[in-house]
Amino acid sequence: MNVILLGAPGAGKGTISKHLVDKYSMVQISTGDILRNEVKNQTELGIKAKSFMDSGDLVPDEVILGIIENRIKESDCKRGFIMDGFPRTIAQAEGFSDMVGRNNLVIDAILELEADDDLLIKRLTSRRTCSNTNCQAIYNVLYQPPVKEGICDKCGSELIQRSDETEEAIAYRLKTYYEKTQPLIDYYNGGSNYHKIKADLPLDEIKASVDSILK
Ligand code: AMP
Repeated sequence: MNVILLGAPGAGKGTISKHLVDKYSMVQISTGDILRNEVKNQTELGIKAKSFMDSGDLVPDEVILGIIENRIKESDCKRGFIMDGFPRTIAQAEGFSDMVGRNNLVIDAILELEADDDLLIKRLTSRRTCSNTNCQAIYNVLYQPPVKEGICDKCGSELIQRSDETEEAIAYRLKTYYEKTQPLIDYYNGGSNYHKIKADLPLDEIKASVDSILK
């Protein structure tokens, strides 16, 4: 089963991806996580991507499509993948659709997580991420705090606030989302595999909606 998760930053794509990984052994493909690893390792790609990411802009489409083309060919993707944070522009969606055809893949579901701006801003500014790039567990100081303040429950590393999760960067990321990514909702909407899910409900209810769609 292959799934695309759509939704603004903070809508819960990462959390729902983790649920699908745990429940169905699918593979999460988060372009944001891949890029953050490249930045951390100071690769050529990471150095190129960093300035876009820090300002809340999108990394160029051809860079992202190259990352995805390589990633979907890895053998673990046979277990089924979740696209988390990709595609983010119409050009990426069109490029991906060609890639899906060329690789004889099927997208079983496109899930859109819907939430209003107030909730997105509140969730993002209170989010903390594990600084260990092999872990990257996500916490929320309001809704899902770690047992020990500032420390990851899973690996004991320090929790950090991402540089693109300050109020200013978030406002810009939301603007970018509405300009560049929201048009994808019209692009995909209407297909029989397209489903809207309310993302302002308790997490268990959101997971139950996702499960009932994918069963
Ligand atoms: P995320 O963690 O998915 O919100 O991504 C963090 C940042 O990485 C975004 O603000 C973009 O700068 C970059 N990024 C992640 N995915 C993409 C994508 N599909 N297209 C362009 N830029 C991306």
